[in-house]
Amino acid sequence: MSVFASKGYDDHEAVLFYNDATSGLKAIIAVHDTTLGPSLGGTRMWPYASDDEALEDVLRLSRGMTFKSALAGLNLGGGKSVIIANSHKDKSEALFKAFGKAVDSLNGQYIAAEDVGIGVSDLEIARQVTPHISGISEGNVGNPSPATAWGVFNGLKAAVHYRLKRENLSGLTVAVQGLGQVGYGLCRHLKDAGAELVVADIYDQSVNRAVQELGAKAVSVKDILSQDVDVLAPCALGAILNDDTIPTLKAKVVAGAANNQLAESKHGAMLKNRNILYAPDYAINAGGIIIISHEGPRFDRQSAMDQVAGIYDTALRIFERADQDNRPTAEVADLLAMERIASVKAKKAESAKMKLTG
Ligand code: NAD
Repeated sequence: MSVFASKGYDDHEAVLFYNDATSGLKAIIAVHDTTLGPSLGGTRMWPYASDDEALEDVLRLSRGMTFKSALAGLNLGGGKSVIIANSHKDKSEALFKAFGKAVDSLNGQYIAAEDVGIGVSDLEIARQVTPHISGISEGNVGNPSPATAWGVFNGLKAAVHYRLKRENLSGLTVAVQGLGQVGYGLCRHLKDAGAELVVADIYDQSVNRAVQELGAKAVSVKDILSQDVDVLAPCALGAILNDDTIPTLKAKVVAGAANNQLAESKHGAMLKNRNILYAPDYAINAGGIIIISHEGPRFDRQSAMDQVAGIYDTALRIFERADQDNRPTAEVADLLAMERIASVKAKKAESAKMKLTG
């Protein structure tokens, strides 16, 4: 395994490997960029098939966090951690304390939060040994998923306004792939706004709940992406927009919560060529990180959620610039994030120079 030659390596500031034989912890923490502030990002617990796969995941996800926070206007950098283990079998108090020590060794350069396979109670154990944990009950933020769902809903509304010229969602048809914490929350907002839902999940229980509580129409996991609907909202896994699926899409807008929806960057251009408006994933799923950035003794949920709703304007800014520059929306999101980081870097360099010259 070579870190520097890895596909996902992109000038990461630090990549640290942790092993604790007593608890069985095997973890990697990647700090991508701290220009804007300490790196903050979730901890993923996953039984990776190989160490290389875990490394690629943490490198790619930590870079994504840099872009997400930069675009959301937060003073946070990008980081992420992975614990190589099965979240259904391998959790223990000792493991999360060992993980907490690993996080603590970075002295606040990395702050952990929840991600796939990790819940609030897991991080509360880690919090006993390090203050560098967010998204827990302390500070009153708790689970950030409802804020993520609210942000995705606002980003989706912006895309519908821009592409379909519709101001309200009444009668709009939306296919939602994945009815987990975010997908189900998004469905509730859509239902309240009068949209009609088509849903799929690998768990029948979640699907039945959406049918009963929200009047959703259930379709198979295989068919959800190609539904004849106005909007497709991917809220399950990444890489679902690819060579095979893009030609089958019938929706005119893609706006969902899942991270890394484009299998490769060329798929952003493929969507554009099909005149499908893609709301870049990290631009509209930033609600969780935004609410976490408000954590602290003076936490005010309403003002945090108001900032999350600002994702509507961020999305519009991306769509407008994409049209002006004739570029895919995903490229424009990257560009806007990089512009913000570059301008802060330039200001820091300038003030360092001023200090030197007295
Ligand atoms: P979750 O695990 O609660 O939900 C995912 C759901 O997708 C589950 O119900 C699962 O059964 C379903 N699913 C998995 N494979 C599927 C398939 N092939 N077809 C249909 N359904 C499938 O996760 P979540 O927290 O709701 O996150 C959803 C997505 O949003 C993830 O990609 C996550 O990385 C991203 N995201 C989440 C947050 C957050 O605050 N939770 C923030 C940003 C991004």
